[in-house]
Amino acid sequence: MRARGWEIVERVRAGEVLVFDGGYGTELFAAGLANGACPELWNDTHADTVRRIHKGYFDAGSQIVETNTFGGSRLKLNEYRIGDRTRELNERGARLARSVAPADGFVAGSIGPTSRLPAEYEPLGDTTDEEYFEAFREQAAALAEGGVDLFAVETMMFPQEARAAVRACKAVAELPVMATMFFQFEELHDRDRTMWGESPGEVATTLLAAGADAVGMNCGRGPDRAVVIIREMRAVTGAPLVAYPNAGLPITQGDRVAYELGPEEMAKDYPALLDAGAGIVGACCGSNPAHIRRIAEVVRARGR
Ligand SMILES: [Zn+2]
Repeated sequence: MRARGWEIVERVRAGEVLVFDGGYGTELFAAGLANGACPELWNDTHADTVRRIHKGYFDAGSQIVETNTFGGSRLKLNEYRIGDRTRELNERGARLARSVAPADGFVAGSIGPTSRLPAEYEPLGDTTDEEYFEAFREQAAALAEGGVDLFAVETMMFPQEARAAVRACKAVAELPVMATMFFQFEELHDRDRTMWGESPGEVATTLLAAGADAVGMNCGRGPDRAVVIIREMRAVTGAPLVAYPNAGLPITQGDRVAYELGPEEMAKDYPALLDAGAGIVGACCGSNPAHIRRIAEVVRARGR
């Protein structure tokens, strides 16, 4: 039987827009996660809090919610000396989100960067494509075991790492993969590029070639740049496109970080984002359920 997650790809291809969720860091810090602590560990120690955050997004109108496993690869968990808990923390993460998902809700297994630089990135890089692949294969297998409907490879900075993650997901499960990268706005050139210097069109092309079923952008700047990035991706592909930008730029206030855009201001750009071709939309850093509620209203107001 074909996994239920494929329904997402079919619905977006048929013209429907689906609502993704919002930021987790903000919510976890608000719940007491200490700076420098491992967020994925909370899938064990603070399961009720994690479940409550997931439920908050489903209640706000998210149709797809992602797991609290962004830094759940062994390479990343090793930084906290808990690499040996990779399988357990990812499986737990998947089950937590699943436990509060409504019957028609979807769970995306979040796979973020390892924080290790690719070998080609001299002189600091040391990680080969094979090492990336192994780390993501292990994480993706545990997420699939925990019952995710699809994978969300996200906030990727380097194409090598992003491609390895997509291939690893495809190697362990017959589930859809959405893959999104982090773009920087280069004000001087008025353009958006990855850390590796790729354009949005190049990213879409390479990630689709690696096997992704939906591609796009997340994190980075605010929705105004997301509109431009998605438009450029749409120019090179008819594939489902995804956008979940940050709530604008971070503003540091003492030891706290706030973000520019409130729910109302952020949602203003979403009609243009839908026009640009985004079929799955949500928000990233600095957003909360209030942002998603407004974004979901924009999506619903537009109809199909
Ligand atoms: Zn973000």
